[in-house]
Parts: sequence; C-alpha cells; structure tokens
Amino acid sequence: MAFDMEQAKRWMRIANDHIQQQKQYLTELDQAIGDGDHGLNMTRGFQEVVEKISSANYEDLGSLFKDVSMTLIAKVGGASGPLYGTAFLKMSLALAGKKEADDKELIAALEAALDGIKARGKANVSEKTMVDVWEPVMEFLREKGSIHAKEAALLAKEKMEHTKELEAKKGRAAYLGKRSIGHIDPGSASSYLLFAALAEVLEG
Ligand code: ADP
Ligand code: MG
Repeated sequence: MAFDMEQAKRWMRIANDHIQQQKQYLTELDQAIGDGDHGLNMTRGFQEVVEKISSANYEDLGSLFKDVSMTLIAKVGGASGPLYGTAFLKMSLALAGKKEADDKELIAALEAALDGIKARGKANVSEKTMVDVWEPVMEFLREKGSIHAKEAALLAKEKMEHTKELEAKKGRAAYLGKRSIGHIDPGSASSYLLFAALAEVLEG
C-alpha cells in the first residue's frame, strides 16, 4: 500500500462527507456534555478543508496536510480546532518531502498527530477526550507495524463507545464531573469518523 496525494485528498473528502452526515449527531453529543458547537465546528472546518485542497496542487503530502492544519485552526474554533490543527500539522511535518507514504511512514505520521494532540491538550487516556480513541488505535497500529485500517476503524468505534462510561477530566465536559458519565465524548466521535474515512480510502 502506498498512501499518495490522491488518497490523502480522498481521505479528507470522505471524512467531510461523514462529518456533514453526522452533524446533528455531533451537535447532540456536545449538547449533552458541552456547549453544542462540535457539529457546527467540524462541518465548517472540513467543508473548508475540502474546498481548499481539491483545487490545489501539492508538491508533497507535507504541504497538503499543512493546508489542512491551517484551515482547521482558522475555521474550526473551540478546543477541537487547535487540537485537530496540531494533529495535522504534526502529520505534515512527518510527511514533509514525501509524495507518498508506505505503511510505516503513515503510521509514524499518525503517531506524530497523536503526540501533537497530547502535547497540546495535556490529556491522557481515560479522561474522556479524543485521546481515548487515538491512543488505543495507535497502540494497535504500532503493534501491527502495518496498516490494518478496517480493524483500526472498528477499534476506534469501540473506544468511542467506551467513552460513555468515563468521567470527563479534560475539556468543557469536565465541569460536569460525574454527570458527564453516560454520554459519548463528541471529539471521540469525530475522531472515529476520521479513522473510518481512512479505512475506506485504504481498504475500500
Ligand atoms: P469546545 O469544547 O471548546 O466547545 P468542541 O466542542 O469543538 O470544542 O470540541 C470538544 C472536544 O474536544 C471534546 O469532546 C474532546 O474530545 C476534545 N477535547 C477537549 N479538551 C481536550 C483536551 N485537553 N485534550 C484532548 N481533547 C480535548
Ligand atoms: Mg463544544
């Protein structure tokens, strides 16, 4: 498998399709334990990403994901904007100068994205954030050493659902304390959509 510029663009297009379709769901999740803007934030950001990258020609994956990052930082807002923005910025740095990435390079780039999310948000596993999806998925891919995108997406879904049981310790939902239990974390849900889209691109 080689992940090239066309696949990177398809990833963003499919992610955007899923996010637009799930806008109401993301809104409802964030209404339950946040301020209700996650659906709007994500649809606005990823729509703009797709518009920006579809007409542009890129020299390498690094510059493509740099544009993704800058657009998300500018358009998403909230806590998730800088977090996803940092994730894609770290990916862009990891993929600088590469026209395509093999499994190991793509895993390393996703790993860099997770490191970026953790450096930026200072959240660890079990604090009911998007890290509860990213971290176990990256552990799984690291162990496999090659992209098992469909299994990774299934794991992402399972981990997203598991956030329901957790008490939020980071982000807006933490203000609710124990009352945050019983609801899926919105950022975990949007992160799952990103991994589901990647699986569609890589494994059809
Ligand atoms: P806001 O909380 O500012 O309204 P969003 O609603 O767009 O922003 O995004 C909320 C999501 O961001 C949460 O569901 C959670 O997954 C994620 N999040 C919030 N704070 C952190 C953090 N410190 N580290 C990782 N993820 C976080
Ligand atoms: Mg919100």
